[in-house]
Amino acid sequence: MKYADFYQRSVVTPEEFWRDEAALIDWNTPFTQVLDYSQPPFARWFVGGRTNLCHNAVDRWCSAQGDKPALIAISTETNTERSYSFNELRAEVQRWAAMMQSLGVRKGDRVLIYMPMIAEAAFAMLACARIGAVHSVVFGGFAANSLASRIEDAKPVLIVSADAGSRNGKAIPYKPLLDEAIALSSSKPARVLLVDRGLAPMSRVEGRDVDYAALRASHLAAQVPVTWLESNEPSYILYTSGTTGKPKGVQRDVGGYAVALAASMKHNFCGKAGETFFATSDIGWVVGHSYIVYGPLIAGMATIMYEGLPISPDPGIWWSIVEKYKVTRMFSAPTAIRVLRKQPPEFMRKHDKSSLKALYLAGEPLDETTSSWIAGELGVPIIDNYWQTETGWPILSIAKGIEDAPTRLGSPGVAMYGYKVKLVNETTGAECAANEKGVVMIEGPLPPGCMQTVYGNDQRFVDTYWTRHGDKMLYSTFDWGVRDADGYYFILGRTDDVINVAGHRLGTREIEESITSHPNVSEVAVVGVEDKVKGQVAVAFAILKDASAATNEQDIMSVVDRQLGAVARPARVYFVTQLPKTRSGKLLRRSIQAICEGRNPGDLTSIEDPSSLRQIEQVLQK
Ligand code: AMP
Repeated sequence: MKYADFYQRSVVTPEEFWRDEAALIDWNTPFTQVLDYSQPPFARWFVGGRTNLCHNAVDRWCSAQGDKPALIAISTETNTERSYSFNELRAEVQRWAAMMQSLGVRKGDRVLIYMPMIAEAAFAMLACARIGAVHSVVFGGFAANSLASRIEDAKPVLIVSADAGSRNGKAIPYKPLLDEAIALSSSKPARVLLVDRGLAPMSRVEGRDVDYAALRASHLAAQVPVTWLESNEPSYILYTSGTTGKPKGVQRDVGGYAVALAASMKHNFCGKAGETFFATSDIGWVVGHSYIVYGPLIAGMATIMYEGLPISPDPGIWWSIVEKYKVTRMFSAPTAIRVLRKQPPEFMRKHDKSSLKALYLAGEPLDETTSSWIAGELGVPIIDNYWQTETGWPILSIAKGIEDAPTRLGSPGVAMYGYKVKLVNETTGAECAANEKGVVMIEGPLPPGCMQTVYGNDQRFVDTYWTRHGDKMLYSTFDWGVRDADGYYFILGRTDDVINVAGHRLGTREIEESITSHPNVSEVAVVGVEDKVKGQVAVAFAILKDASAATNEQDIMSVVDRQLGAVARPARVYFVTQLPKTRSGKLLRRSIQAICEGRNPGDLTSIEDPSSLRQIEQVLQK
């Protein structure tokens, strides 16, 4: 089938289209209405239908392939590998569901999960889904203040946590941070369920803290039937990363999400039941929710959870996992691939990767160098996909399951089915012509699987994301983009990282792309810095591949001059050896910008390595 026809049907007759897609999952009660959009921008999908995410991810597969692997948890931090079949996973999830119920969790209650990448984290998520509790997974790398603001907002009745995570062989205690976060928050959980991995000593709070191993022992034979939920009841809250101020709780439904994941597993990830999927993300991020836990299992695939670094015990570790478990589809982020590119290639080459059919990359712009390098090494298609925590599944990509359309270097692809993607001129509000830069927006209703609202704050959802254009409501992605004449989009950076140089608005991403095309630049961050004359100027911080080569500031500037024009030329180019990033790989441009402007760099709880910021301070002082 031609993708263009598939897409057209999805946007011209969306109700027909999604009615068909809804058949990919099991429904306990059929829906009576595909879409209720009577209160825009709030979309309600599959109204009246009753289903359950855990049923579709686990129980559904038990009869046909109960003995096949469902969850494989690998840790190179603790040197453990644990594999659970669908039957075993169902048993564990029922134990967890029973434990949660015994601790007072009921349908609609929030359960906050602050866990490392261990199987128990997935059990906890699926158990919530099973009993209709709303999980809120908080990335294990967040510290007390970020955790506290999420506890404050979600008001969980139960928190599930562990003694510690582990990074590069070093235990990272969670419990003291958790206790501190609970102390900081005005909302207190009634109970805290603790998995003791034996990595760090933990103190217990009498009457509140419960030991997982002991409680599990009394629920070994638990049988907890799934709670059938109306499609629009909430399944989870996931707070958006990288934003300052009060975090936004992205809330998702049950039925729409299950259908969107089932559809994307089929049309985008081409997942087949019985095969193995490996997403290298973390359950604390949206990729972890959609493509470590729910998506692959809903497709009947085994899913791999990996705790550890991509380069330890050696840089071949991921490829040894691909070899051992015959991974067919792998999902990672460009940052990780760039890390691997710096390693000796033989670690990768010595493994048999012939099971792998495609590598999917998302989360940040995929540069051509990284993409071409990994394509050359793996000999499989590299499929960029662009989306956000808010959407839950790809907005732009190439749906290889529909048509083997070509990818285009530098572009994540075309609009995915269900998404009416528009490029809108920021000043005039008019739709952009081909090759004209605009804000990437989506005409409402958002397709199934996208956020329903901001948890507990419908008004904030409307005010933050939506604008009215004539009789249409448009959702903003806060990304700049252009579309070529064939419908391929190119993402040019966040609108909220915009630089305005002498009245010219420029995306930092454009300048970065240009600078990285210099043969000796491996990575760069460009920020807008206040300037008395021009309003703002661009300042670049670049990492050189070979620091001993004679690359100077002027060389970099002339590349930008040549490619984008002098208007985009950075006022200064500084050379550093690392850039401040979040643990999920996003550049902390705002923190760099703040330092350049002599301000406080803000909330740094998600930073990968604080010394990168000190380097910025140092080069600025020189
Ligand atoms: P998050 O919600 O944290 O996943 O971040 C979403 C943002 O990451 C998007 O709004 C984009 O700015 C960026 N992003 C995600 N995927 C891509 C991609 N494939 N190409 C370019 N930018 C991306």
